[in-house]
Amino acid sequence: MIEQNVSLKPYNTFGLNAQAKLMARVNSVAALQEVLADVKLKKEERFILGGGSNLLLTKDIDGLVIKNELAGIEVVNETPEHFFIKSGAGVVWHELVLHCIANGYAGIENLSLIPGNVGAAPMQNIGAYGVELKDVFHSLEAVEMATGNVESFSASDCEFGYRESVFKRKLKGQFIISSVTLKLNKKPNFNTSYGAIEEELQRLGISSPSIKTVSQAVINIRQSKLPDPKVLGNSGSFFKNPVVPTSQYEELQAKHPNIPGYPAGDETKLAAGWLIEQCGWKGKVVGNTGSHAKQALVLVNYGNATGVEIFKLSEQIMSSVYDAFGVRLEREVNVY
Ligand code: FAD
Ligand code: NAP
Repeated sequence: MIEQNVSLKPYNTFGLNAQAKLMARVNSVAALQEVLADVKLKKEERFILGGGSNLLLTKDIDGLVIKNELAGIEVVNETPEHFFIKSGAGVVWHELVLHCIANGYAGIENLSLIPGNVGAAPMQNIGAYGVELKDVFHSLEAVEMATGNVESFSASDCEFGYRESVFKRKLKGQFIISSVTLKLNKKPNFNTSYGAIEEELQRLGISSPSIKTVSQAVINIRQSKLPDPKVLGNSGSFFKNPVVPTSQYEELQAKHPNIPGYPAGDETKLAAGWLIEQCGWKGKVVGNTGSHAKQALVLVNYGNATGVEIFKLSEQIMSSVYDAFGVRLEREVNVY
């Protein structure tokens, strides 16, 4: 059934008031193919919606929103070292994490509590605390919008990068991801390289971690510093961390000795939150929006913000960071 004039406010974590002219909720590949083949809908612009947690809506969607609700988690293969877990794209990401932890499938515990759905996870190769989706990714299936054909993508087909994939670039708007298969470990290989995890495990009195306790540590840290979108609208990190030539980092370091920098291949990754904070934005309220008091990288909606207002704030932040450091920030959030 196609719904008309649907408010998207409950469907985006910024809590922005935008309307969809049409919306189709699909819970199977066949239902999705039927919508794609519907001649009455052929002319409509199509927009794929997951959990709406990486989205800035600056206007109404004058077309068809396809809300991905494909369910189901199953073990599709097993070797002595690995489980292969296939999940429908409409499964809530954190529910998949909890399912894996409960069953002893290791590898995604650092990615606990990331909002959104499984189908969007490959879009920007979600990452947190030193682990990215690509580290556990096996393959995905996606439906081509133009033909309705189902295609399979390997990790190399997805061209994963730092918060990047082929679906954000060359194949943007062409495929709807319908399922994702992960290759998870039977024997955990813990990554506690981010100091905050070690500190939290110590605080909890845990000397030998399990996937459950690492997940709990990540959940505790996230809940202590990130605003809950149910309470304060936001879309997580608004900008990517800029990766710059190491020579540029060294020049910046000469002027700003405390500037954080992390190796990223031959280059150096800067912390966008630090740069924004140095420009005085952290905790600043601008009209109905602002930069969060505990994490400057997170822009928030204090209740009545519009997408345009948040977009303008992001422009001001980008130009002040450029003026102060000569570094161009890039938005991580998908702006519509
Ligand atoms: P949406 O916002 O619904 O969609 C995002 C984009 O993907 C849109 O362009 C949409 O059209 C497209 N899309 C969605 N589903 C599909 C599909 N099935 N097929 C094709 N295209 C699709 N991200 C991180 O990487 N790491 C974090 O630690 C992290 N923390 C966050 C914390 C908070 C509090 C919030 C609010 C966000 C955070 N994010 C983080 C960002 C966000 O949660 C992820 O990017 C998430 O994967 C988005 O999923 P979604 O289902 O909400 O996508
Ligand atoms: P943080 O721990 O305060 O660190 C600030 C930044 O420094 C992070 O962005 C992180 O880069 C980088 N960093 C810190 N320690 C590092 C290390 N040991 N090696 C390499 N890089 C390091 O960051 P935070 O804001 O609380 O976020 C914690 C984690 O959750 C981060 O991985 C972050 O990406 C993720 N997160 C993402 C979103 C989102 O919407 N994308 C929202 C909230 C949290 P990276 O970002 O590259 O990891």
